[in-house]
Amino acid sequence: MTETPELFPASYQAARSRFRDELPRVQARWPAAHLARHAVAGDETTTIDWIEAPATGQQEKLLILTTGEHGIEGYVGAAMLQLFIEAYLPRLAPANTGLLLIHAINPWGMAHRRRTNAANVDLNRTFIWDAGDAPAERLYDATFNPGYDQLMPLLNPRGAVRSLAWSRLAFAARLLRALVTVGPGRLKAITLEGQYRHPQGIYFGGRTVPEETAVLMRLFRAHIARYRQILHLDMHTGYGPRYQMSLVNSRWEPRASTELAQRFAYPLVVKTTPNEFYALRGDMIDWVYTLQREAFPDKQLYATSFEFGAYGDSILAGLRSMRTMVEENRLYWHGVNPPAEARIRDAFAELYAPGDARWRAKAVADAHVAFSGILTAERFA
Ligand SMILES: [Zn+2]
Repeated sequence: MTETPELFPASYQAARSRFRDELPRVQARWPAAHLARHAVAGDETTTIDWIEAPATGQQEKLLILTTGEHGIEGYVGAAMLQLFIEAYLPRLAPANTGLLLIHAINPWGMAHRRRTNAANVDLNRTFIWDAGDAPAERLYDATFNPGYDQLMPLLNPRGAVRSLAWSRLAFAARLLRALVTVGPGRLKAITLEGQYRHPQGIYFGGRTVPEETAVLMRLFRAHIARYRQILHLDMHTGYGPRYQMSLVNSRWEPRASTELAQRFAYPLVVKTTPNEFYALRGDMIDWVYTLQREAFPDKQLYATSFEFGAYGDSILAGLRSMRTMVEENRLYWHGVNPPAEARIRDAFAELYAPGDARWRAKAVADAHVAFSGILTAERFA
């Protein structure tokens, strides 16, 4: 078993090689397992890699594990994927259980330590259900979330950062004004809901289906079609309390959070409703639920996200994450002076890929509790 510090990869390339090297271990129990990849924009240095393994007998249950939808979050994602392969694959039954294990949905973002893909698109705003009759401009609706525009100077300040202290002072002043004029609840909602018209802005959802999203949609559809019961676990970081991973359920999951907490014997379960989390458009897990409902109504699905919080869940931590997002995006588009750049990059890494040993140990411990609770309750192990 890999020790906790080694579970967390140092680079995208290292994480990818390790994942590819796991194929023989999977094949030992799923002989037909194979590795596949999609080179994003034709570039072999940034590939979405996956291992698919059909059940050896009756195709009853499908386990999907996805990581790195938000690029930089893939470092923790890769750790959890490795943990799952080592500790939980041995508990599954190849006779009736198939696998779809996905390493780095957004490889460019993971390699470049950004949340977005190369076009600044937040992929978790792009899984918009297409019933087959709407043009892309209606799905990726430029008029969605109009409130975002009045917050442009706060969320997307222009120009290079000359002094980090001054830029933070200006941010604090704009933030204070926004808190007074739109209120804290609306401010959070407007920011996180995403937008489809400012390509250099934070939480940009693009103008059409991104390549990475199209690959994932195809994989989900093809695999879910073959099985009766689907369990999908998706790995994220950044949201929630610092030392307690949150299970974040889709708004389409019919069961209440309290019921699921009890069922999985897991202490923190929330749902993406405005009350418990925040509403957004284009969420991947919502899309998987919609796929099940619209295309495979006879199949049983449970899909959820593991959210490993980093800054914490206080109001101040929330505002600090917003500032980190704004600064990192400004750095990317407009540049900063070098000492400020290092501080911004550190703050961003601290939010999405923490290096602290105690944090990592607790993340691994929480993942164990959640993996085993969910696998048992869903009768996968
Ligand atoms: Zn995420």
